[in-house]
Amino acid sequence: GRDNRWQMHVADLAGDRALVHLVDRSEGHAAERMRVDFVANASHELRTPLAAILGYVETLDDDAAAEAGTRKRFLRIIRDEAWRMQRLVEDLMSLSRIEAEKFRAPETAVDLAGLAKEVHATIRDAADPRSCDVAIAIDEGLPLVAGDRAQLSQLLHNLVGNAMKYGRPGTPVTIRASRGPGAMVRLSVEDQGDGIAPEHLPRLTERFYRVAPSRSRSLGGTGLGLAIVKHIVERHRGRLDIRSTPGEGTIVNALLPIAPLSSNRNATVTGPA
Ligand code: ADP
Repeated sequence: GRDNRWQMHVADLAGDRALVHLVDRSEGHAAERMRVDFVANASHELRTPLAAILGYVETLDDDAAAEAGTRKRFLRIIRDEAWRMQRLVEDLMSLSRIEAEKFRAPETAVDLAGLAKEVHATIRDAADPRSCDVAIAIDEGLPLVAGDRAQLSQLLHNLVGNAMKYGRPGTPVTIRASRGPGAMVRLSVEDQGDGIAPEHLPRLTERFYRVAPSRSRSLGGTGLGLAIVKHIVERHRGRLDIRSTPGEGTIVNALLPIAPLSSNRNATVTGPA
């Protein structure tokens, strides 16, 4: 085109066949576009609860004599909306922190088995007893992974949080850690919930992408959980793989590279933390 957007590569010339690659050189434009959309989406997500807070504060102010029950109800809405804003701002901050570090691979060796047990205990203690029960299945003798412990903990919290939000009450959510393919450890979270239709799978890790926006919001979702997970996995030079069957459930696998041999040898000598 006029702006030289497409670059043509001709390869594999054999007889009368030619393989033509058209390479989109407008990657810069796409990135810019995504950034503009992101700012617009984030502003919109913040404006909605903010408008609700201001509206209810005005109402309370105008009607100071309102009945105690009404005042209490309004205050509750204000508090819930403020919490929503807080979660959103925290997720936005995590995302930008993780992104800022993306060129620096984590260097410490992390014991995923120990981490998974710790997160499991925290979630089990905090969970609403009516929701899913969280089970854990960890293989013996897993090698340490090259990782950032706080980020891997956040990854697990986000995945288990989703599994509990979109899981069916009374069905289990399972955290697993096992030896993955190649030099990887597989950390996965499995639920028996709604599942996700295949057409949505490729877009799930986009910021603010939701299959059912109002359901996500009413469950307290920010729409950033899986975007954060994706960035954490990328920073760890790992791979994210989401499998789902609508009506049956979802399994999210994070494949994480094992730590260099030296730190693993140390771990065997000193034992896992
Ligand atoms: P949210 O805050 O909306 O949960 P996420 O980024 O964590 O945002 O997830 C994006 C969307 O992916 C969700 O809104 C939901 O539609 C879908 N999703 C994520 N995890 C699951 C799951 N375990 N089961 C079914 N749907 C899921």
